[in-house]
Amino acid sequence: MASTSKNSASFGPALRLGVLGGGQLGRMMIQSAVDFDARVEVMDPSLDAPCRYLTHRFVHGDLQDANAVEAFGKGLDCLTIEIEHVSVEGLRRLEKQGVRVIPKPDHLAIIQDKGLQKQFFAQHGIPTSPFQLIDDARQVGAMGFPIVQKMRKGGYDGKGVKVLKTADDSAQAFEVPSVLEEAVSINKELSVIVARNSAGDIQCFPVVEAVFDPEANLVDYLIAPANISLEEAQTAERIAIQVAECMAFEGLLAVELFLDNGGQILVNEVAPRTHNSGHHTIEANVTSQFEQHLRTVLDLPLGSTAPVHAVGAMVNVVGGADAHGIPDYFGIDVALTTEGVHPHLYGKSRVKPFRKMGHVTITGETREEVLDRMMRIREQLAVEGKPAPGDLSKAAEH
Ligand code: ADP
Repeated sequence: MASTSKNSASFGPALRLGVLGGGQLGRMMIQSAVDFDARVEVMDPSLDAPCRYLTHRFVHGDLQDANAVEAFGKGLDCLTIEIEHVSVEGLRRLEKQGVRVIPKPDHLAIIQDKGLQKQFFAQHGIPTSPFQLIDDARQVGAMGFPIVQKMRKGGYDGKGVKVLKTADDSAQAFEVPSVLEEAVSINKELSVIVARNSAGDIQCFPVVEAVFDPEANLVDYLIAPANISLEEAQTAERIAIQVAECMAFEGLLAVELFLDNGGQILVNEVAPRTHNSGHHTIEANVTSQFEQHLRTVLDLPLGSTAPVHAVGAMVNVVGGADAHGIPDYFGIDVALTTEGVHPHLYGKSRVKPFRKMGHVTITGETREEVLDRMMRIREQLAVEGKPAPGDLSKAAEH
């Protein structure tokens, strides 16, 4: 038998890895985990979660319940998240019992609260828009108008964010403890996904640009590298690294940024997990964001983030405005026959209006080539709903 090299660290097989949340991010993490012989176990509040049938153990449970999180995580080698709204108390207990928890509960506690996040940025000299914290809607005029009001806790995908243009909009303000932010005059929305491991090594993925559909005011597509100057890209990466280093963060951190119309780059917020703006890395980079995340969780060396294709883009495949029932996908055949295009379906059993059902990655060697391919397939992509047999019989009863 060949002798073991003294320079190589041992790597035990079949590590038990827990994931809180069993949605599409967990599902893509499982694909990478197989290569590292990490056995993924998942907890999710939905019996119908996209990870349900792809795990070694599926636990149906409330992610915000400390006892449920503790019971799920007991005896695991390591535990991570695919959604940040989980019980920090449960994670703290598991960490004390020797489970390796990434991201660290203390970091999660800051990130779960948009108010603490903003204070953290301000305390560490990280550029961010001016802000004020308020306890209830009566204080909503404290900074004047226009402002952006954000619920401190529980918001996601823009729910929990309100733009209040004038004092007349105050009646629509959230009642809960919130952050008021100066409204940034946004030129571009950018994101940098950065990984930092226990040794303090850091790797950034190239800067991603979110291109908005001005009519729908929804993200239309994401593309990397962002169409910004080299200097702006370097600043965005430097700021993302600064956030990870100031926190002594361990894991994968998605740093959402604004490039404003004055040329300034500001941090909007961070997410301590894999992110919608990193899906293209599966096909477009040497190491995907999912593999990179796992490497930090399993405490392995970080992978190269170098592009394998000069340009990578991603379009979400979402439910139609009236789509209900069993998903019926359109345009996948066109995606499958267009060069450099790769569909990813999330395995959701029901479609709902605007629900994220999958995404399509487009890679190529120039921005023009990628955008041209995207335009060709984007119009074809749609998800409509078909009635499920059970739904039909229920409809007949009424
Ligand atoms: P969520 O965490 O729910 O995605 P975000 O904080 O990312 O919420 O805000 C959602 C969107 O609102 C951003 O993508 C951006 O378009 C807009 N937005 C957020 N903060 C500001 C701000 N200070 N000024 C202008 N627009 C903002």
